[in-house]
Amino acid sequence: MSFPLSRSLPRSLVRSYGTVQGPASTAIPNRIPNALAEAVTAAAPRTSWTKEEVAQVYNTPLNLLTHASQAVHRRFHDPSAIQMCTLMNIKTGGCSEDCSYCAQSSRHNTGLKATKMSPVDEVLEKARIAKSNGSTRFCMGAAWRDMRGRKTSLKNVKSMISGIREMNMEVCVTLGMIDEHQAKELKDAGLTAYNHNLDTSREYYPNVITTRSYDERLRTLDHVRDAGINVCSGGILGLGESDVDRIGLLHTVSSCPNTPNLSP
Ligand code: SF4
Repeated sequence: MSFPLSRSLPRSLVRSYGTVQGPASTAIPNRIPNALAEAVTAAAPRTSWTKEEVAQVYNTPLNLLTHASQAVHRRFHDPSAIQMCTLMNIKTGGCSEDCSYCAQSSRHNTGLKATKMSPVDEVLEKARIAKSNGSTRFCMGAAWRDMRGRKTSLKNVKSMISGIREMNMEVCVTLGMIDEHQAKELKDAGLTAYNHNLDTSREYYPNVITTRSYDERLRTLDHVRDAGINVCSGGILGLGESDVDRIGLLHTVSSCPNTPNLSP
C-alpha cells in the first residue's frame, strides 16, 4: 500500500496551533540539506563524511530527518518488517572498568550483586524460550573489561553461540575488549555481530571513562571487523556532552571502514 507523503490540504483543514509564527519560521529550512540529500540517494555506504556534513544532518529538523530516514529504509527494507531480539545478561556486575553511567562497575556503590557467568545449558534454554516467543536474534552481554585470561569463559561463550546458531537464530555478544584471535574464535563459532560502543566523542571520552582509551575501543572494533563479524557500535546520549560531541561521535562511527552494521 502506498500513500502520498506530501499533498496540499484545503487551508481550512490546516491546523495552526503549534506552528512557529513570525520571523523564527523563516529560519526553518523547508528542504533537506545537501549532505542529507546525498545520503538519502546514495547507492552505497560512504565513509568520507566531513564533520560539517554530519553537522548538517544532525541539525536537520526532526520531522524532515524522520521523513528522509523512512525513505532510505523503504529503499532497502520491507517497511512493515521488524526483527525481534532478546538480550540476556550472562554475567552481571563486578566489572573493573569505571564507566560513569554503568551500574555494573565495581567502582560504583549501586547495591548490585555480582554474579558468575550463567551455565551454558541455562543460556540455551533461555534462547529456546526467546525463539518460541518470536525472537530471531539472541544477544548476550557480560560485564568484563576484556577476555584476557578467560579461556574457560570464552570456550563456554563459543558453546552458547554454536548452540544458538543450531536453533537457526542470529547471535550477538558484548564481552568488552577482544583481540584478533578471540574475534576469530567467535567468528568460527558462528557469531553474527559483536557490540562494543564508543559511548561519546574522542574529546569528551575522558569525562566518561578513564580505565581504557578511545583507541583501545577502536582497536576492538578493528578486530571484530577484520574477523568478518558484523560491527554493532554506538553511544549514549545525556552524559553531559555537547552537540559538538554528539556530532563527533556520529562522525567517528560513520567514518569507520565498513560503517557499523548496527548502531545502538
Ligand atoms: S565495561 Fe561494560 S560492564 Fe564494565 S563498567 Fe563499562 S559499561 Fe559497565
